[in-house]
Amino acid sequence: MLFSELGLGPEVLRAIEDKGYTQPTPIQEQAIPWVLQGRDVLGCAQTGTGKTAGFTLPMIDILASGRARARMPRSLILEPTRELAAQVAESFETYGKHHKLSMALLIGGETFTEQVKKLDRGVDVLIATPGRLIDLFERGNIMLNDIKVFVIDEADRMLDMGFIPDIERIVSKLPKMRQTLFFSATMPPEIRRLADAFLMHPKEISVAPPASPSETVTQAMALVQEEDKRKALRHLLRTEDVKNAFIFCNRKRDVAILHKSLERHGFNAGALHGDMVQSKRTETLEAFKKGEITLLVCSDVAARGIDVQGLSHVFNFDVPVNAEDYVHRIGRTGRAGRTGRAFTLAGPYDGKQVAAIARLIQREIPLIAIDGLESAEFASEEDARRGRGRGGRGRGKEKAREEKPAREERPREERQAREERQPREERSREDRQPREERSRDDHRQPRESLAAAEARRSNEPRRDRDRDRGRRRRDDDDDDTPVIGFGDHMPAFMLRSARRPRPVESVEPSQQEG
Ligand code: AMP
Repeated sequence: MLFSELGLGPEVLRAIEDKGYTQPTPIQEQAIPWVLQGRDVLGCAQTGTGKTAGFTLPMIDILASGRARARMPRSLILEPTRELAAQVAESFETYGKHHKLSMALLIGGETFTEQVKKLDRGVDVLIATPGRLIDLFERGNIMLNDIKVFVIDEADRMLDMGFIPDIERIVSKLPKMRQTLFFSATMPPEIRRLADAFLMHPKEISVAPPASPSETVTQAMALVQEEDKRKALRHLLRTEDVKNAFIFCNRKRDVAILHKSLERHGFNAGALHGDMVQSKRTETLEAFKKGEITLLVCSDVAARGIDVQGLSHVFNFDVPVNAEDYVHRIGRTGRAGRTGRAFTLAGPYDGKQVAAIARLIQREIPLIAIDGLESAEFASEEDARRGRGRGGRGRGKEKAREEKPAREERPREERQAREERQPREERSREDRQPREERSRDDHRQPRESLAAAEARRSNEPRRDRDRDRGRRRRDDDDDDTPVIGFGDHMPAFMLRSARRPRPVESVEPSQQEG
């Protein structure tokens, strides 16, 4: 099929031609005609399938006629991460270059002033992460009652990251008469329920996820002792013909450590993880895309969906916790028919995860030896359990002791949500405070007494209380000092008023948490 058969206008077709696309991808072929007809669409598709163009191309045509009014955007696209939002904005610029549509990108970590100015001038396309959008809505900078097209992208990721309540709030502010496009890589029951609530008689379309990595990616795995991993990586970086590479770590703390180590050894490396300030994230990504940085050490959440043309290598410094993430990570290379190479460094305690990957991709990853390093063996299940008990997976003995075991056991989703959500919330809170108040806060005692904190909190709106709790959790996370007693985490049941006893069975899980 040709793009010209999908019903798109001549300007959009010209932009597609300029971009060099010859044929629509399956998701584009299926989605574009329905979107142009004004139908709601429920799309099951991952990044990498061309779904962004699947909704941006027809949206440009739909929005081509009409004008935006101040503070009243005509369309809204919600993305789970700032990088994905920025990428969608880039797509709008590319495909909309022969139109005069105005666009605003509302993402956390950037100043409100510029974003508000843009909204004041009126925007046709608003691309936002949920938290920042709510912040601006609450400040009265934005009205959502003129939204004609609403897109929720990566809905399952939004669920993982705890954004669903925010999204429900946003949807409650939208007009009932609108077109909704809803995309998710997977359709668990929660997502299906959400789609049922948000969509009207949607056209359901689905494209197969990449069940196996592209054949153009050569895969290999080195099984080494944990303490030899950096040496192994350096060896691979020196012997492979690396033009540019993503190096994935499972934890953001390790991203920073590995980044420093690589720089110390003379490699041209940058780092990307969810706790970095947005300006630095954007700057690093730009430098990497321009080739000024060759190696990008990153966490999954920061690198999700990032599209870098012609990436030569992917290195998994850690075996990913979820097998699907392996396919996702190595799929960053070998795109669009190009070849790519993907190396994974496994430690003795990674046997279970490696087996899960092999099951998913239905083949073993070929093992290679690293010159000068003795190959390791996978530990037995029993040893692996003991290793994990010490907090030892992937760390080496000394490092392992530094880690709090509880951390390993936290669900991945919670960690990711913290990575993306908290920096945004903390910063947006700072943004909201007047300058004098902020500097006063800076000099405040670092910790107030628990009783005082609770008394203050009980007078605060719930949202602020939640935010503080989030901040506290994150502070703990980055702190290596052992926790004594309850630490800062006073269990909720101890803080409940004794005058208003509640029957145990009526306490909802959410109430128990806070
Ligand atoms: P996405 O799934 O939207 O993140 O897109 C993944 C990659 O596919 C991006 O680099 C797009 O530029 C590229 N792409 C999208 N549509 C096409 C197409 N029809 N032909 C070739 N490449 C495409």
